[in-house]
Amino acid sequence: MSKAQHENVIIIGSGPAGLTAAIYAARADLNPLVLEGNQPGGQLTITTEVENYPGFVEGIQGPELMEVFRNQAQRFGAQTKFEHVTKVDFSERPFRVWVGDNLYTSDAVIISTGASAKWLGLASEKKLQGYGVSACATCDGFFFRDKKVIVVGGGDSAMEEATFLTKFASKVYIVHRRDEFRASKIMEHRAASNPKIEFVLNSVITEIQGEPGAGGVTGVTLENTQTGETREMPIDGVFLAIGHKPNTDLFTDYLPTNDAGYLITKPDSTATDIPGVYACGDVRDSVYRQAITAAGNGCMAAIEAERWLAEQEIV
Ligand code: NAP
Repeated sequence: MSKAQHENVIIIGSGPAGLTAAIYAARADLNPLVLEGNQPGGQLTITTEVENYPGFVEGIQGPELMEVFRNQAQRFGAQTKFEHVTKVDFSERPFRVWVGDNLYTSDAVIISTGASAKWLGLASEKKLQGYGVSACATCDGFFFRDKKVIVVGGGDSAMEEATFLTKFASKVYIVHRRDEFRASKIMEHRAASNPKIEFVLNSVITEIQGEPGAGGVTGVTLENTQTGETREMPIDGVFLAIGHKPNTDLFTDYLPTNDAGYLITKPDSTATDIPGVYACGDVRDSVYRQAITAAGNGCMAAIEAERWLAEQEIV
């Protein structure tokens, strides 16, 4: 094994939280290393128009916004690598971070691994992933031109994905398990007023029909959550938009999580129970989960890490 590469600060993850932490840490002359992970740029790279990030009057495409973040961090000396962390050891300092056999050590670590899409957990859903079952309309919507698709969920993501899919699909059904939506009114109204979108309420998918390779998804079984009745519905694609799970698996041996599985940080702080380890963005936020709040949180993490390193007289 080659000798470990030592850093002042390693940032794990590269969404709005991680790259904002990188901008602040780089401007504090910490020369941070960002290990970008399997989805460089994070969740915004699989979204389309971002209309609510301040500073962009006309909106901006998600991937472009993250490119801007990355360029800004690099401009101040942040190193960014398309590497996925496979293991950490926070039991002693310097902290150890592995990418496969490659070992990095670091005086401080900022965790910004975000969250990943949730799935229903059906065997047929897993079997048909990539064959008509998807959790990313932006990635896969293009393949459903003039087809009929379902979006599962009742939150803003479901409304957004369904509205996006109407660019391609001939019909989009939003299947939701209740008769009220969690989505913001503006997003719900946008979907409701789209003639291609139809709501299927009080319903859950209990089975997805089709075979990989042989045309993929052909239909679903729907169960009415009020009456228990089931019915078959022919469909060409199923898009899941039922929320996200925080990406904490690497850290749970060292750091506590709350009931929903999010990393716990100290009140009004990104500090974890381990001095020198900070967590920011969606991996610790089950409430706001916005790019702007993640970015603000990343800024906090970098400032806290910088102050802690200075107190330790490490930098
Ligand atoms: P969410 O708000 O947690 O909504 C998840 C939806 O999926 C809920 O309606 C939930 O039903 C349903 N659901 C969860 N598990 C399910 C299951 N196993 N089977 C069937 N349905 C299930 O998630 P989200 O829509 O991804 O939004 C997350 C956050 O991002 C929110 O704060 C949202 O405002 C934000 N967001 C903002 C924008 C935007 O502003 N452009 C776009 C997307 C997301 P119940 O309602 O019954 O619990």
